[in-house]
Amino acid sequence: MAALICEIVYRGIFQKNLASRIARGIVLSARKSGRWGIAFGRYGDSPQRNGIPAKDFAIVADSKEELEQNMARYEPKHVDVTICVDDTLSKGVESWAWYGLQPINRLTVPNGTVLMTSLQRFDDLLQDIHKKDAPYQLSLIRAKASFSGLWVYKEDHTEVRILGALAKIAPAFLTLDGVCGAIKEMEWGSDLKVESAKKAYARLETREVKLTEGNAEVPFSFEMPKWWEMREGVTIPAIPLGKPKEAGKGYVPERNPYFKKYTTRTMRPVVNFDTCVKCTLCWIQCPDSCFDVMPDGTYDANMESCCGCGVCEAVCPVEKCITMVNESVFEDNASQWEMWRKDKDKYHVWMTEKIGDKKATVRSHGFRFRGQYDEELKSDLDAGGVEITAGIPGENAQHKTV
Ligand code: SF4
Ligand code: SF4
Repeated sequence: MAALICEIVYRGIFQKNLASRIARGIVLSARKSGRWGIAFGRYGDSPQRNGIPAKDFAIVADSKEELEQNMARYEPKHVDVTICVDDTLSKGVESWAWYGLQPINRLTVPNGTVLMTSLQRFDDLLQDIHKKDAPYQLSLIRAKASFSGLWVYKEDHTEVRILGALAKIAPAFLTLDGVCGAIKEMEWGSDLKVESAKKAYARLETREVKLTEGNAEVPFSFEMPKWWEMREGVTIPAIPLGKPKEAGKGYVPERNPYFKKYTTRTMRPVVNFDTCVKCTLCWIQCPDSCFDVMPDGTYDANMESCCGCGVCEAVCPVEKCITMVNESVFEDNASQWEMWRKDKDKYHVWMTEKIGDKKATVRSHGFRFRGQYDEELKSDLDAGGVEITAGIPGENAQHKTV
């Protein structure tokens, strides 16, 4: 008797369809492999918020009894495989329910596997993934974070590549034949997708991560009030006044100390303080009051609170003064303004390098001007045509190829 327990860690809304297709694919592949399977989601609330980390689980078992035994838990405390479909989550997972930061590998059993889609090198990822008190395997599917399943993003076969990789990782539960059979039967199935699964099976890169490897930082956590410490009734205090900065020449707004939000971030703003015209728009429009007013009147986005929504970039009237950059190329949450104040030339080099970094792939928050989607479609068509979306279960996917 044995079971394979998988968690699928994903970004709410952006990857909701993708995660559910992976979970469903695991169950169907298990059945095709002569096993039992079930899948379920972790939350009723947070997955519906843009970018908030969320989880689905899938359990595969040798027998019906084994499956039922595992289903008796509210959620698995340990998983054999952690599937992560956005490598910016390698910095940790903070959702509503954990009250702190959960390392991406926290539930992974000793000698289990973290399976991730990423174009980063193993060593770069291990600068972000927290250390674990047991060795485990890190397996990579070479792909950028996928938003396939959202209506405007291109279909990229991520769900079947994950299934193919799982067949390699846990052949006793999911055979490659079982995976291919399931893909053919699902409504998003196609021969091309079967080939993608086989390629992922053949090309999966895996490396053991030793006890000594990984980000040594202690993940942040905090004490929540106990029930006997809470006030009677419901009161929502007004946000207190912030604090002045540097003899009143600047200002730091008060922020929620508990829900830090920065793990929701897939991109962060990089500010060119030399071109800022101090118009205040970023400061006013930021939904999370992230911007500190600096002594010189410029605005510094506080990376402990920025959720990476991109509003500041959209409202800034100065071209390329604020640029959203892939979160995976940053190592810390240090103040950009302080870096700029200390050494402007050095900051300029740093800023240019970060904005120009393409190795972790360009990410986008969508469209910056009216007609951009049409333009992108046209260039795709000129390049030979692509499937723009083909995988949303229940939709007439076959009619969405241009
Ligand atoms: S991306 Fe900009 S607007 Fe959005 S939370 Fe961060 S600082 Fe605020
Ligand atoms: S919106 Fe742009 S120009 Fe205006 S204050 Fe913010 S960074 Fe400076």
